[in-house]
Amino acid sequence: MSTAEKRVYNFSAGPAVLPMSVLQKAQEHLLCLPGAGASILEISHRSKPFIEILDHAIANLTKLLNVPDTHKIVFLQGGSRLQFSMIPMNFLKGSNQTADYILTGAWGKKAYAEAKKEGETNVAWNGGDEGFNRLPKDEELQLSSNSAYTYFTSNETIEGVQFSGEPNVGDSPLICDTSSDFLHRPLPIANYGMVYACAQKNAGPAGVTVAIIREDLLDRASDTLPGYCDYRQHVNNGSMYNTPPTFSIYLMNLVFEWLLNDVGGLEKMHSANKEKAAILYNAIDASHGFYAGHAHPSSRSLMNVTFRLPNDELQDKFVAEAAKNDLSSLKGHRSVGGIRASIYNAMPIEGVTLLGQFMTEFCQANA
Ligand SMILES: *Cc1c(COP(=O)(O)O)cnc(C)c1O
Repeated sequence: MSTAEKRVYNFSAGPAVLPMSVLQKAQEHLLCLPGAGASILEISHRSKPFIEILDHAIANLTKLLNVPDTHKIVFLQGGSRLQFSMIPMNFLKGSNQTADYILTGAWGKKAYAEAKKEGETNVAWNGGDEGFNRLPKDEELQLSSNSAYTYFTSNETIEGVQFSGEPNVGDSPLICDTSSDFLHRPLPIANYGMVYACAQKNAGPAGVTVAIIREDLLDRASDTLPGYCDYRQHVNNGSMYNTPPTFSIYLMNLVFEWLLNDVGGLEKMHSANKEKAAILYNAIDASHGFYAGHAHPSSRSLMNVTFRLPNDELQDKFVAEAAKNDLSSLKGHRSVGGIRASIYNAMPIEGVTLLGQFMTEFCQANA
């Protein structure tokens, strides 16, 4: 293999690592999708082969997450960012109710800013003063009495804080941005009004966002919404209101098949994720403060491990030496700095073990 062809361990926060077997299958099928006589990139979204892929994607996701028939699955575009607006447009606008937002990091803050444009909002909890390094306890939440819904971000990708369960919000429909930890564990979908995720962190390539919506909430939307922004259009047209992102859906379905058949389901995925994250957090904890973890230990993310070194110089050295060891994309988000190792579902344990060893050796050499 030439250097240009060599694959490294890719700790990018997103778009991010995909399972090798998924890439191989896509490569195998790229010139000719079996039975289609052309590639997935060239066939109509109304063709039988694509409709089969879409049906399989919905069936596979339903199986993985045990999605009850009270909830509808739709594939959307515009990334998670468009959901920041579509959620309040559909479920808040014109309702005389208040939408509650639990702010545990940068993405939740952005979603809240969009919701404010559509109706009454309330910050139920804000971790900003503490640098978004922990999650709230249920008794800290200040929900409104006429709550339209309660919104939270299960995993804050930039800060590396993650809910390990659901906040208790009473009767308020729970809406969750699971963009960076979708399918990392089983999720009790019945407890949610809506769950959504862009694919490019933990479930596929950029270009598709999956939403799982409780059907009764759909009635809240006004007919004056722009067509694309009305969830009912996507539900009623089976994700074919406009041309869907066919390749992204195809590839995401291959990831669903990988989770079902190769990993063996989300319980197993969750165990593997806990095992991987423990390797890095142990390296942090064993470093006697050389590595300072950003998240409070009780709020640590299994997906994005964030920490700092004693100074910027050492941080740059860490990133550069790691890259020489085929450990790539470890620089933290430009807004917070430090180091961020994103260890999504598809990151093999070998890559995490190598990074853990590198951390230990780097600490010994530089502390
Ligand atoms: C990446 C990310 C987003 C933004 O996704 P886009 O597809 O770029 O709009 C939103 N929320 C979370 C938690 C993310 O990690």
